[in-house]
Amino acid sequence: MTAFDTHKPPEIDLIEDCVHCGFCLPTCPTYVLWNEEMDSPRGRIVLMHEGLQADSTLSDTMVGHFDNCLGCMACVTACPSGVRYDLLIEDTRQQVERNHPRTPRERLLRRVLFATFPHPSRLRATVPVLVFARRCGLTARAQRWRLLDRWPTLRTLSELAPPVTLRDGVRRLPTTTRAVGEKRGTVGFLQGCVQRAYFGDVNAATVAVLAAEGFEVHAPRAPRCCGALGLHAGQEEDSLPLAKATIEAFEQFDHVVVNAAGCGSAIKDYGHLLRDDPQWSERAAALAARARDVHELLAEHAPRATRHPVEMTVAYHDACHLAHAQNVRAQPRQLLRTIPGLTLVEPAEWELCCGSAGIYNLTRPGPAAELGARKADNLLATGADAIAAANPGCTLQIAAHLQRKGRPLALFHPMQLLAQSIAGAEAAPGMRGAAARTGRRLRTLVPWR
Ligand code: SF4
Ligand code: SF4
Repeated sequence: MTAFDTHKPPEIDLIEDCVHCGFCLPTCPTYVLWNEEMDSPRGRIVLMHEGLQADSTLSDTMVGHFDNCLGCMACVTACPSGVRYDLLIEDTRQQVERNHPRTPRERLLRRVLFATFPHPSRLRATVPVLVFARRCGLTARAQRWRLLDRWPTLRTLSELAPPVTLRDGVRRLPTTTRAVGEKRGTVGFLQGCVQRAYFGDVNAATVAVLAAEGFEVHAPRAPRCCGALGLHAGQEEDSLPLAKATIEAFEQFDHVVVNAAGCGSAIKDYGHLLRDDPQWSERAAALAARARDVHELLAEHAPRATRHPVEMTVAYHDACHLAHAQNVRAQPRQLLRTIPGLTLVEPAEWELCCGSAGIYNLTRPGPAAELGARKADNLLATGADAIAAANPGCTLQIAAHLQRKGRPLALFHPMQLLAQSIAGAEAAPGMRGAAARTGRRLRTLVPWR
């Protein structure tokens, strides 16, 4: 008997790659916060090793250290020995979810989150409620009067509420968008779950940029989600059918293109997820190899569409699942630099997570808030007019913490800035409510509330 069952325990070979050098420690957000060895990548790898020993048990303490991990993968970037902590923590989280009894409160929270977020139709159903709450000032009043301070998860949820409009509840992307000019290729575009329901503008901008750069874009409406949220939280049972449905929907295309960091890293991980399934392992690995973050794909091709000035100083925020999990750091910067008039600035501590991390800011609101505040300070210190970030979770988390500090800034996905530049519309100060012609009208993401 060991702490782990026999279904995909963390692999001993991967564990033994760690030479305990400690180079990863300064980039690990939980180690930075608490200076606690067992809340560092090195410490967690030791715990995984312990969990494989005879007569070990999956204690509450051990699970606490695993749960404290944000899954940001900064340790993977920092590790000179190439330790695949990403694969280790994925298997470990699944073990925890199968073999560790959660408290009723934890079970309820997880059930509610997984019954909501990976379901775009259910998220869309919340749009009128969110619009009503904002128009009546309910969320602002709850924050001003500190009504939810005793319930950190509810407080965080209220602060993360996206600034949707009623149109977000009904808008749909066209399933096919033709390339402008000579066609360079055909891509399948993954709409995502949270992204399609709450960030329709980002998806519209992404399709507009891809089309302007010569790609025919197909945006299948099914499946509803790629399984990323569940996969990163150890919910293997929920994630597998979604991963298989995504493979079936996208394997006909040259590339599956993704504009949300968490979804891209999950799809690139399908080969590992389905490695033991003889019917799916090859198909999963093939799709993973064809997955491209939209910045990666565009950076592989010389820019074709004319860029017009967007006079703005922009701080680029590295989403962990893009920078660390996919090693995509240069490409978004390279694309933003093609925009005339745009000045790109870099925040300090780029490698540190903002605290969003999937459902982490709801399951661990305390440390997530400390990291969110730290990230907001670093971004504000750049003096930028706006922030570019390529993940919906980061966008909501950063906006919430800028708002807490009373210093909201405009937040954009880099594709929105590119779409704006290609469309040639003048960027109003802060781009509040600006709209551009890019084959369709784009409502740019506005500063929060
Ligand atoms: S994970 Fe890598 S960087 Fe961290 S202690 Fe192990 S070998 Fe060193
Ligand atoms: S994934 Fe992030 S939080 Fe987890 S051990 Fe690595 S650096 Fe630390």
